[in-house]
Amino acid sequence: MSKIEQASRFNGQLRDTILLNRIWDVIVIGGGPAGMTAAGRAAERGRSVLLLEKNPTLGKKLLISGGGRCNFTNNKNDLRTMLSKYKESDKFLFSAFSQFGVADTIKFFNDRGMETKEEEGGRMFPISDNSKSVLNVLVKYMKKGDVNVLNNAEVAGISINKSTEQVIITFADKSEVRAKSCVVAFGGTSHPETGSTGEGFKWLKKLGHKIIEDDASLVPIALKDTWVKDLAGIALDNIKLTSFRDNVKQKAYKGKLLFTHVGISGPTVLNMSREVGELLPGAKNVVLMLDLFPTEDSGAIMKKLQAILIGQSNKKIKNTLSSLVPSGLVEPLLMIAEIDGETPNHSVRSEQRKSLVSLFKSIPLHVAGLLGKEKAIVSSGGVSLEQVNFKTMQSRIVPQIYLVGDVLNIDRPSGGYSLQLCWTTGYVAGNNC
Ligand SMILES: Cc1cc2nc3c(=O)[nH]c(=O)nc-3n(C[C@H](O)[C@H](O)[C@H](O)COP(=O)(O)OP(=O)(O)OC[C@H]3O[C@@H](n4cnc5c(N)ncnc54)[C@H](O)[C@@H]3O)c2cc1C
Repeated sequence: MSKIEQASRFNGQLRDTILLNRIWDVIVIGGGPAGMTAAGRAAERGRSVLLLEKNPTLGKKLLISGGGRCNFTNNKNDLRTMLSKYKESDKFLFSAFSQFGVADTIKFFNDRGMETKEEEGGRMFPISDNSKSVLNVLVKYMKKGDVNVLNNAEVAGISINKSTEQVIITFADKSEVRAKSCVVAFGGTSHPETGSTGEGFKWLKKLGHKIIEDDASLVPIALKDTWVKDLAGIALDNIKLTSFRDNVKQKAYKGKLLFTHVGISGPTVLNMSREVGELLPGAKNVVLMLDLFPTEDSGAIMKKLQAILIGQSNKKIKNTLSSLVPSGLVEPLLMIAEIDGETPNHSVRSEQRKSLVSLFKSIPLHVAGLLGKEKAIVSSGGVSLEQVNFKTMQSRIVPQIYLVGDVLNIDRPSGGYSLQLCWTTGYVAGNNC
């Protein structure tokens, strides 16, 4: 790519000589799908473009999307049907989607060599089942237009110079870079480990934008296992949940869990709910294996169990296990292990002990769905839509600023609708900035 990217170290000298002395037509903040689309389109129109990304690499969240397969859009060709998915935001989106909609998106990727396929419910994926295919198209698109990409470049603020009307982007070390316009694409606040930490909303607020607080995408998980309702209110600390989609291991999460009347909740569960939701479409089963002793192996747990059974040999098993696991769990565990709770400890057979230990390490929780708004993955929060001109994605408050992707306050379900918003708003911004 450019000299800047080749150097890729964000060292002061390079910055001074190449960046600070130049006034860019467009600076894009954020190298996610929305920012890359906007940058690529602006450069295609002949604009000089600098994209600033705080991570060492581009598209970190894009790469984990759709379980790494990237459900990049939803094949709803009818505009009204598509827009209805965005609920009350639909009235704002008509103009942007008329300029760059689902068919344009599919064509965009197909024309650049990415073959696509449709799955249940219109969900579109790259045929490679690999989100890298999507990222590669975007990177090539930017390269073709000679977008200058600067990684490890964390923006600390935006302001407007009143006399020149230029946008001034400030970095943490107080150095600055200037542009005639700026596409703000720093993402929302979900999965901050990918880089979208939401600090940019402060700058936008300072410039006069109304920011709606993020309140969703974190939802409890409903389970098919009816026994959980008897455990409602019981909290478990230091547990591990490992997700499986059709018996294929996906991801492990450690932390706290709270049983509810219909399933599980608590911070760990809320934070994983989006990813669990992404596993559901088209899956025969999604199971969360609950490990009550994530720091101990089965051998160590067996020793503990043996000691308890021997130490209290004449007691019934149902009155014993609570010294090892929360009492509310004893009955369901015995039920799943098919052990009669009246059995005296001295009569608990070896295979029954083994199945108990194996359950302590992996209690199957069968996911029924996500709770919350329409049981869907909902992500909301961001810049109030009234303040955006959707014909151009320009801010109505600061005309030099364009707002795209997750920065906008738009509710949507899972199914490719979030990324479609990025392509649509990114393209329209790039077409106008
Ligand atoms: C687990 C998961 C799975 C998903 N799966 C799907 C799916 O299959 N289909 C779908 O449609 N949607 C999916 N989504 C949602 C989709 O990934 C997002 O809507 C999309 O990534 C938003 O793109 P964006 O460009 O607006 O922001 P982001 O992708 O969040 O990119 C913003 C970028 O800005 C950078 N940045 C932030 N602050 C600064 C700063 N101060 N200075 C410089 N750079 C900064 C960040 O590092 C980041 O790279 C998923 C989301 C998650 C978390």
